[in-house]
Amino acid sequence: MADPNPVCVYCGTANPETRDHVPPRNLFPKQNRSNLITVPSCRSCNETASKDDEFFRVMVAGRLDAHDHPQAQKVFESIIRSFQRPQARGFARQVLDNLIDVDMYSEGGAYIGQGVGYKVVRTDYDRLDLVTDRIIRGLYWDKFSVRLPNRCTIKCYENSRLEANVDPKKLEDLALIFKPLIERQPDAAIGDGVFEYWVERAEDNDFGSAWILRFYQRVWFFGLTSPGDVTV
Ligand SMILES: [Zn+2]
Repeated sequence: MADPNPVCVYCGTANPETRDHVPPRNLFPKQNRSNLITVPSCRSCNETASKDDEFFRVMVAGRLDAHDHPQAQKVFESIIRSFQRPQARGFARQVLDNLIDVDMYSEGGAYIGQGVGYKVVRTDYDRLDLVTDRIIRGLYWDKFSVRLPNRCTIKCYENSRLEANVDPKKLEDLALIFKPLIERQPDAAIGDGVFEYWVERAEDNDFGSAWILRFYQRVWFFGLTSPGDVTV
């Protein structure tokens, strides 16, 4: 159904010219790009995001713990190929400079040797946040047919960052919010294991919601939206 009053889901500009993929299309291997979610986006929001999307892809599909997922492997191969393009040299250099040896452990905790990891620095997280904010804004619109107003706050943490960034008492509160979501089926599963999400809208306010984003069935992000400041 055509939207009678289309606006860019990110900035609210009227009559957006393009549609943007949420999550970014580059996370899906070429063979798995049917049925992706798209949302109305102005050209400016769409184009300014593409470098952040590429960064996000490297950080998520390139993660060691995603490597055994077949779709992540395919995407990782295309990342390596893209690094060989002349215009990607600067970015490739930046990534390669930050590769470090890391100790790897099995799920049971046994040391299984060394692998190559990426040293994540503070500005990297800010950049990941830009992408997860956009994903949540886009999915919110797609799911509820309502645009999150600009004043809304979105907080989204990758799983391993939760404990470092949220105080223990609030972690317990968050567990109460997210646990029921994880225990049910995802609200959507797209691209043969590439992406799933869960969402629960708060009953007492219009723009409060809790989100779980999962990539390659390995990399988890936990997000909250709020009409005002989120205090986690
Ligand atoms: Zn826009």
